[in-house]
Amino acid sequence: MLASALDLIKKAQKGHYAIGAFNTYNLEVTLGIIRAALLERSPVVIQVSENTIFYAGLRPIISIVKTIAADEAGDVPVALHLDHGKSFHTVVECINNGFSSIMIDASSYPLEENIRMTKEVVEYAHKKGACVQGELGRVKKAEDYDLGNNVTLEEIGELMTKPDEVEKFVSETKVDSLAISIGNAHGMDVPGLELDLERLRKIKKIVSIPLVLHGASGIAPDQIRNVIKEGITECNIDTETQFAFTNMLKEILEENPHLLDPRKILAPCIDAVRAIVESKIELFGSGGKV
Ligand SMILES: [Zn+2]
Repeated sequence: MLASALDLIKKAQKGHYAIGAFNTYNLEVTLGIIRAALLERSPVVIQVSENTIFYAGLRPIISIVKTIAADEAGDVPVALHLDHGKSFHTVVECINNGFSSIMIDASSYPLEENIRMTKEVVEYAHKKGACVQGELGRVKKAEDYDLGNNVTLEEIGELMTKPDEVEKFVSETKVDSLAISIGNAHGMDVPGLELDLERLRKIKKIVSIPLVLHGASGIAPDQIRNVIKEGITECNIDTETQFAFTNMLKEILEENPHLLDPRKILAPCIDAVRAIVESKIELFGSGGKV
């Protein structure tokens, strides 16, 4: 069933586990995520980015997620969320087409501008009954698979959330949840990456709203368990499901070069996404929390 992302993460906050927020692009990835949620009896957030809206179209991708959540998820709650909304325009479009939860990511701007843009979005979203995730500090991209660039640990360190800015940001913008940068990066495999637990503890003492970890793909399970223990209530996964899907696609086509029927090619890819999402649900502790 369709649910509000804020309800799911508030319940997770009380229960000391985390909700997985998984990105989708299409029917197959959406099926993989929802099948995993059903098998684990776990609430999930399914999120789409602006790139996905550009790829699939806003209304088609909403219809895919909402239809499967309503018709096939039974009593398992599924929330639809906009990931990294970059402009007021995108946010308005998404809310007016049925998103109950959106992220405004103005983290690349100086603090005052981040506050101004986030506040403008929160005022609009709250009037429409939608909740808002902001970002303070910046979560960089670990590696660009097309260009081969890698972010350095020094760059990640410089962009971490500054605890002394958190109170001002949250009280002035009135965001419902906050994405923070504590050493995490989008993508995988930043050698030597250690999440900054001390920074997380400081932030947690300052604000009571749910805290979100972007770029949770590839982070060692022990580190994930530790940040959940210290107050992270949503973990975002995209890169690992991309690897699961694409590696399976390559394997199937390499082993069966004459396959023609897309359903025969894509069914194992759905299953690969389901398997990785199930493993993340188990790591985050959200299984059985319906
Ligand atoms: Zn992100």
